[in-house]
Amino acid sequence: MTAAQIIDGKAFAVGLRERIRDAVPAFVKQTGRAPGLAVVLVGEDPASQVYVASKHKATIAAGMESFEHRLPANVAQEELIALVERLNADETVDGILVQLPLPEGLDEKAVVMAIDPDKDVDGLHVINAGRLANGEDALTPCTPLGSLMLLKDTLGDLTGLDAVVVGRSILVGKPMAQLLLGENCTVTMAHSRTRDLPEVVRRADIVVAAVGRAEMVKGDWLKDGAVVIDVGINRLAPEPGKDKGRLVGDVATAEAIDHVRAITPVPGGVGPMTIAVLLRNTLVAASARAGLEKPEGL
Ligand code: NDP
Repeated sequence: MTAAQIIDGKAFAVGLRERIRDAVPAFVKQTGRAPGLAVVLVGEDPASQVYVASKHKATIAAGMESFEHRLPANVAQEELIALVERLNADETVDGILVQLPLPEGLDEKAVVMAIDPDKDVDGLHVINAGRLANGEDALTPCTPLGSLMLLKDTLGDLTGLDAVVVGRSILVGKPMAQLLLGENCTVTMAHSRTRDLPEVVRRADIVVAAVGRAEMVKGDWLKDGAVVIDVGINRLAPEPGKDKGRLVGDVATAEAIDHVRAITPVPGGVGPMTIAVLLRNTLVAASARAGLEKPEGL
């Protein structure tokens, strides 16, 4: 087989962010304001703080308005919901993202359900999950939508292809399967109770691995010529003398490379797409709220 293509999610994300930045001025011209993204961070979780800081930076760089709201870990559920409701009512806010996970004691589901579905740029509200399942316009979770963009960029039309999605979370696996169905793939959803997972994966032209288990999908599970999207982010134990372990995906990339047509690396594959699609969702939500067409190419 010819050498596998390494799908450059980082470069695709840069291009998408440029297209968004280029589309923002037309929105500003028509509405007199920039699209606005509000991010709510509860508590001091270090990883969440890093994510929120990079979302803020990326939002500003795209020419949008970024509103950050920080609440202490011991905030009352009612107070957090009251903030979400104020953001729902705020005309300058087009997208609302509550950084998950929330500290213990807070009801994540209730908080997500309080978000106006038309501002739900994380796509986690059941109304958006339902719209997606019904094949209607929906705000769709960023990671699976970014994964689909990479697949379409690699393969073009996905019609008729066999796709296996390993993992069935609300955040990744389920919306991924719906998106692939929407592209006319024949979709199988696999999970921890699937019988003979290697055999199921071997049938697939497209494999999306979203499990959270380091290098679980082995090279000989993959059909020759498959295209693989590795969503997993797993940190291995540090090697002697190092303070941090290596990041790896859910797929044993070094083995897979001998079988596949194309694969996303970890890091530098799906990861960079997530924030780029968040910006895309914010502009799409803002355009819909303003009664404007979805900007072209997004
Ligand atoms: P969840 O833990 O919510 O879901 C994991 C899924 O994998 C479950 O459906 C589970 O099945 C399934 N699973 C677990 N073990 C096995 C197994 N042995 N065989 C088959 N299936 C199994 O994780 P997420 O969906 O939130 O995330 C998955 C991965 O993607 C993680 O590594 C996460 O860090 C990464 N991620 C990356 C993002 C990015 O920006 N690149 C964004 C979001 C996530 P069951 O339902 O039966 O328990």
